[in-house]
Formats: sequence, structure tokens, C-alpha cells
Amino acid sequence: MSRIWNFSAGPAVLPQEVLARAGDEMLDWHGSGMGVMEMSHRGKEFMGIAAEAESDLRSLLSIPPNYKVLFLAGGATLQFAAIPMNLLGGKGKADYVVTGEWSRKAVKEAESFCDVGIAASAEDRKFTYAPAQGAWKVRSDAAYVHYCSNETIGGVEFHWIPETGGVPLVTDASSHILSRPLDVSRFGLIYAGAQKNVGPAGMTIVIVREDLIGHAQKGTPTVLDYKLQADAGSMLNTPATYGIYMAGLVFKWLKQFGGLAEMERRNIAKANLIYDVLDASRFYRSPVAKEDRSRMNIPFTLADSNLDATFLEGAERRGMIQLKGHRIVGGMRASIYNAMPVEGVRALVDYMREFEKQHG
Ligand SMILES: *Cc1c(COP(=O)(O)O)cnc(C)c1O
Repeated sequence: MSRIWNFSAGPAVLPQEVLARAGDEMLDWHGSGMGVMEMSHRGKEFMGIAAEAESDLRSLLSIPPNYKVLFLAGGATLQFAAIPMNLLGGKGKADYVVTGEWSRKAVKEAESFCDVGIAASAEDRKFTYAPAQGAWKVRSDAAYVHYCSNETIGGVEFHWIPETGGVPLVTDASSHILSRPLDVSRFGLIYAGAQKNVGPAGMTIVIVREDLIGHAQKGTPTVLDYKLQADAGSMLNTPATYGIYMAGLVFKWLKQFGGLAEMERRNIAKANLIYDVLDASRFYRSPVAKEDRSRMNIPFTLADSNLDATFLEGAERRGMIQLKGHRIVGGMRASIYNAMPVEGVRALVDYMREFEKQHG
């Protein structure tokens, strides 16, 4: 067996221990004589798997009891619509902060449901920073304020939690959930597609404050209604069973590892290895404001974009893949989620230094 260093933004690298365990359990989960994919979602085995996944997630993030945890299907993109459908509550307006491609997509979807106010935008500097709190203009009668706390494409991460004066705060945390501790009580709703930092594609986590649900607008499909899903333990219909199981294994891996404080310490160290090379160099450049740089998704450019293909070929020869930047930003992007070992990051920075020596 050989494993490659996979810098994909998502679906992305998963912990090797988790994959190995899933492999061991593939044909016979805990003596049940069946694999998890073959289990009835109503059977005691799978009900146990889902309950344990929820309780491990609650303990990792210290989720307060007045928050519901949902494991839904449809990806983070479906939440772009589900959020206004559930949270507008007859208010007819919601505010959005735009810091890149994903928050832009969320705005676009919300516009079909309500009057969208742009509370702040980083478009003036090509989405390379997080607008400071003082620049936010939140309407006090908005149903909620939505932002994306880590823009996967642009590599902009909020390292602080916005204050919205009582208006519920909603975040798309798809690409950095569980990379650091998070004070859930500051949020009305947190959501994240699994395929970046949690597990396979197909499952989306929604953490929502209890008092915000139960007011879905008329016409909301039942599977998108947070209250109905919460009452049904996310099993109004067949959930993404294997995705929930895999996420549960990742939660256990994180707990064994020492939890999110330890994971954050590691993530800072990993990101610094790359940013140190970028900052010490005239050859490489990071487009993102220093204080808003993501620890998970690190875009960078080479001094001469004609060298991009050569850089990528050399990386691949050294067993490093998916370093090509998103077409919108260009250049390179290294996604270094929780499951990327520090050895993979070291391999990348060694290569970056060597490449600069040769071509810089
Ligand atoms: C990947 C991503 C999405 C979209 O996820 P899908 O599962 O493809 O719908 C949304 N927001 C962010 C921040 C992402 O990284």
C-alpha cells in the first residue's frame, strides 16, 4: 500500500487510522455480521452509531444542551436555501457578509427567499481579508447574519467571532469545523459539509439553537425543516448512514488525539511551516492579509505563473497532489486539514524551498 500527500480542498484526506478501522469493520461491524452500509437506519446497531457520533461531537465542541445537532444530506449548498427557509420566521430580511466565493453563493441562494442586506464585503480587495467588526452594518431587524468563517477558495479565515447585537449569527464552517475549539453559544446556527474536515461527502452537520427552529416557512420540504428533523433525530428519511458512521470514527480519533485544543496547536504549527516559507521568500506570495490567513486552505502564487505547471509536475513526482489553486484565484493552494500529517506539510515546504532555489 502506498499513500500520497493529498492537498485536495475537498473531498479531502482522512485520518489513516480511521480508514484502516473502517476497512477492518467493512464486512462485519462489531460481530453483527454485516457492514455499516448494509444496516437498517432504524436498527439498534445504526441507532447506536448515530447516537454515539452525536454525543462525541457534543463533547468535542462542548455544545450546550439548548442546541440541536442534525446530520443532514444535500451538502452545505442545500443549507444556503434551508437557512432562510427555516430562520426567516416571517421577518423577510437577512444580512450577509461577503468574503469570497462561498459566502457569495450563499447570498445568491438567499436572494430567492428574502431581502438580503450586505452587512460587509471584502470585494474591494478581491476577497483577501475579513472585514473588521467596525465595518459591519447589521440591520437590527434582520432575521440573522450569515458569514463564512473560513473561505475555502480564497483562504480567508475569521480568527474572531463577530458580535451582532442580538441578531442570530450563522456561519458556514465547512472547511474549518473541528480544527480549533469554538464557543458554540455565540452562534444561532453553525453548519458544515463533511467532506473537508469531517468525513466522506454526503453528510452535513447543522448545529442550531433550539429557540430558532419550528418556524419554517410554508412550502419548506419536510426533510429541510430543522424542527421536524430534530424531532426525528435526523431520521425523517434515510440519512447518509455511512457518512455518519465515518464522521463518528473521526470524532473518536479527535478525542483520542487530545481534542480540539490539541488539534488547534498542531494546525497552527502546520500552517506556520508554510507561511514561514511564503514570508521569507520573494518568489512565493500569499495574497491574504496576514491576520486573516486560513490555517486550513493556503493559497499562494509563484513569481512567474509560467512556472505553475512545472511546480505542479515536480510536486506530483514527489507524491504531492491537488496543489493547483482554484481557477478563480490561480496559483497554488495547499489544503492542510486536520488529517494531513505534519510530515506531508514538511514534504511540501522542503519542495517549495528547493523549487525556489532552482527557479527563483
Ligand atoms: C465545499 C464548501 C461548500 C459546498 O459544499 P457542498 O457539499 O459541495 O455543497 C460550501 N461552503 C464552503 C465553505 C465549502 O468549503
